[in-house]
Amino acid sequence: MANLTRDFFIGLSNNKILNKHAKKWGFRLGAEKFVAGTNIESVTEIVKELNQEGISATLDNLGEFVADKSEATMAKDDIIQILDIIHHENLDCHISLKLTQLGLDIDIEFCIENMKEILDKASEYDIFINIDMEKYIHYEKTLDVLHTVLKEYSNVGTVIQSYLYRVAEDLEQLKDVRIRLVKGAYKESEAVAYQSKDDIDRNFIEMAKKRLLKDTFTSIATHDHHIINELKQFIEGNKISRDNFEFQMLYGFRTEMHYSLKEEGYNFCTYIPFGDDWFGYFMRRLAERPQNMNLILKDVLYTKENKLKKRPIAVGALAISAIGLLSICNKKKKS
Ligand SMILES: Cc1cc2nc3c(=O)[nH]c(=O)nc-3n(C[C@H](O)[C@H](O)[C@H](O)COP(=O)(O)OP(=O)(O)OC[C@H]3O[C@@H](n4cnc5c(N)ncnc54)[C@H](O)[C@@H]3O)c2cc1C
Repeated sequence: MANLTRDFFIGLSNNKILNKHAKKWGFRLGAEKFVAGTNIESVTEIVKELNQEGISATLDNLGEFVADKSEATMAKDDIIQILDIIHHENLDCHISLKLTQLGLDIDIEFCIENMKEILDKASEYDIFINIDMEKYIHYEKTLDVLHTVLKEYSNVGTVIQSYLYRVAEDLEQLKDVRIRLVKGAYKESEAVAYQSKDDIDRNFIEMAKKRLLKDTFTSIATHDHHIINELKQFIEGNKISRDNFEFQMLYGFRTEMHYSLKEEGYNFCTYIPFGDDWFGYFMRRLAERPQNMNLILKDVLYTKENKLKKRPIAVGALAISAIGLLSICNKKKKS
């Protein structure tokens, strides 16, 4: 059942029509729990509050499935505007972006030009740019873009997904590059990726330990307290400098742990997604942890006084979920 639910939400996250319509809906289905806002102004306030607590941030102006150059150019201009704001507001904050947002699927050279414009501005302000890792079909091209821009810029890095078999080799090639280590959020085939949680976790821990023993900065991005605890012991046991790494978690997830890790003296960074292209991101979060749906339903069905809302928008979400799950179950039965 867990796999069915995961497949269902991943399927929704890839649905271009739903993604397109979601932009018009505004925040719905409880997305505001995990997506910080639709505009940079509200998000700036959140970053300032985190910074006051000693927590840094990475901003992701959500966007994917960009199909024409004008859309990609707009995304690039928006990111440059965000860099201006980070600089002028003196925020402890960097940028996370997706290359498909900058035209990777349209024309790789065009995407590289967009990246270079962003990196020019980011270098001027000394701001780091992280290239998020997307589905495996984009993997090689993403590394190609990274290696191209690394010839001219040093303030750029990417993400390594521990569910991929190949990552030990890739990490070796990227040994001098700042990396975020994650488990991986997409559905990948057995040909390229581990399928079991045990294998993915084992590889995550192995890769994290390898990186921690090196001098290059690593962001350890997980909400998994088992892994975090094991790595904390490794860090203390090997006297690894806390300047060499940070923990990262997503906005809205295990918020109490963001603060407790910071209080224990670790560097901590919150990944803050915002913008109107929230649907795919939100569905991937539901795929990872269907329990998130419970939290959301509670929020969207009930008022603060614990009374049922008059027209709960979650009814739509529930209906979609039920129809989707039923159709998956039916397909499985027939096959
Ligand atoms: C900062 C950040 C950036 C990311 N960037 C990318 C990217 O660029 N590309 C990509 O493919 N993926 C990215 N991801 C997503 C990542 O790949 C995983 O899909 C996601 O983090 C879920 O895995 P996990 O390690 O957090 O924990 P899971 O494997 O989902 O959970 C492990 C265990 O941790 C505990 N746990 C987890 N979450 C919670 C919770 N909310 N409340 C209570 N307990 C919990 C539970 O005990 C659970 O069994 C990113 C994740 C983070 C945190």
